[in-house]
This record gives sequence, structure tokens and C-alpha cells, in this order.
Amino acid sequence: MALNLVMIGPPGAGKGTQAARLRRQHGIPKISTGDMLREAVAAGTPLGVAVRNIIGAGRLVSDEAIIAVVEQRLAKPDVAAGFVLDGFPRTVVQARALDQMLEGRGPLVVVVVDVPEQELVKRLTWRRVCQDCGATFGGVDTPELTGESSAEGAVESGRCRKCGGQLVQRDDDSAAVVRDRLKVFTSQTAPLVDFYRGRPTFSLINGLQGPDQVTADMNRAIDAALAKDSTRNRARA
Ligand code: AMP
Repeated sequence: MALNLVMIGPPGAGKGTQAARLRRQHGIPKISTGDMLREAVAAGTPLGVAVRNIIGAGRLVSDEAIIAVVEQRLAKPDVAAGFVLDGFPRTVVQARALDQMLEGRGPLVVVVVDVPEQELVKRLTWRRVCQDCGATFGGVDTPELTGESSAEGAVESGRCRKCGGQLVQRDDDSAAVVRDRLKVFTSQTAPLVDFYRGRPTFSLINGLQGPDQVTADMNRAIDAALAKDSTRNRARA
């Protein structure tokens, strides 16, 4: 069965890290709308030029623009066996559009990663990204959580521990913009939880745990959601 997975959570909840792991474990593409938009900005495409300032200010790109981006991506053949969506949907309008795009394509599994705001501010202002390979350090990849001492070392040395590239702070990870992004999440994205909560394929996960525990909980939630969905389908047949 295709695994169509949506990961919802505030900025800094660890969605990117978890989506990358699930991509490897389940052999499905990771679709990160934030990454796609940042790539468009870097390449100077018309979309990139249009969204550059919006991203820099921590606001949301218009529903219309982002829905078009995702619709095109989900039409590609590599998503036939499923996908993990990171950063989309972010509004109820986007969630409804996604339901339409997926009609007849199997269940949508929704996992929400829950992390208190105080912890998010700490993680986001500490996070650094490698300019060359895109690896993320700091954030959830902190030594207290992973038991690794090198994550902190990587941030302090300013060099990527995977490829040696220069580590930089994302423009929208500065303290002021982080606070705005969290406000945007509370007002526009948190209502998504209510939109999805009643579905049998919905789960809430404690994102304060270490990354391995979060991945394990996610895999349990995915298995349970797919099992429930196939039981429902058998009962209907
Ligand atoms: P992220 O890497 O997911 O935190 O996304 C970075 C930024 O890209 C966000 O702060 C928004 O400005 C923009 N963005 C990403 N995904 C969406 C979306 N689904 N809807 C609107 N804006 C988005």
C-alpha cells in the first residue's frame, strides 16, 4: 500500500530530520515545501523572486502559489509508492486542496509532532545549516538529545561534520523572525490539528523525546494508521 504521509508541527519540531529518516526507511520521496521554496529563491526563478521577502519575514506564501507547487510535485511518477510531506499543508485551505489531489490514491497518514514553544525558540535560534550539503546541526540534533558530542562541536567550529562545508544560520532563524514564525504557526497551522483530529489515520507524537524515540513512535503510528485503514476498507467491502 502507498504511504502518503503528512508531518505537521511547529518550526523546530524536527520535521525535516524525521522526514529524511522516513524517506530512507520507507523508500519514498521527501517533499519539503520549505526546501523547494529556498531552492527557487537561490535559483532566482520567478517563484523564488516572488516569495523571497515573505520567507525572510517568516510569513506564509499564498495558498494558491504553494498548492500549485505541490500539485506539480505530486504529479511526478516517483510519488506513486507514496511520499512524506514536510511543511505542507500549513493551512486548512491547503489541507482541503491536498485531499482533492489525493482522491483515489490511498489513505493520508497524518502525524503531528508536538513541542512546547520555549523549547522551539531554543532549538531554532541554535540551528545551523550547511551551505554545501544542506545538513542541519543544532536544532533537535543536540548532544543532550542524541548523546553525540560532535553535533555541538560542529556548530561551534562553524564547519559541517558531514562534508566540511560552511555552516550558516537560516535568515528566518533569527530570534525576532522565529517568534513571528511561531505566531504564524499558532494562528494558521494549529487549526489543521482540529481539521485532521477525527480521522482514524491521525496521531499526535511527543516531539520532546530524542530523535530515535520520535522516529519509533512515528513508525508505530504509521503501522497503526495503515492497519486501521485496511480494516475499515475490508468492513466496507
Ligand atoms: P520551512 O522550512 O517548512 O520552515 O518553511 C520555510 C518558509 O517557507 C516558511 O516560513 C514559509 O514562508 C514558506 N513555506 C513553506 N511551506 C509553506 C506552506 N505550505 N505554505 C505557505 N508557506 C510555506
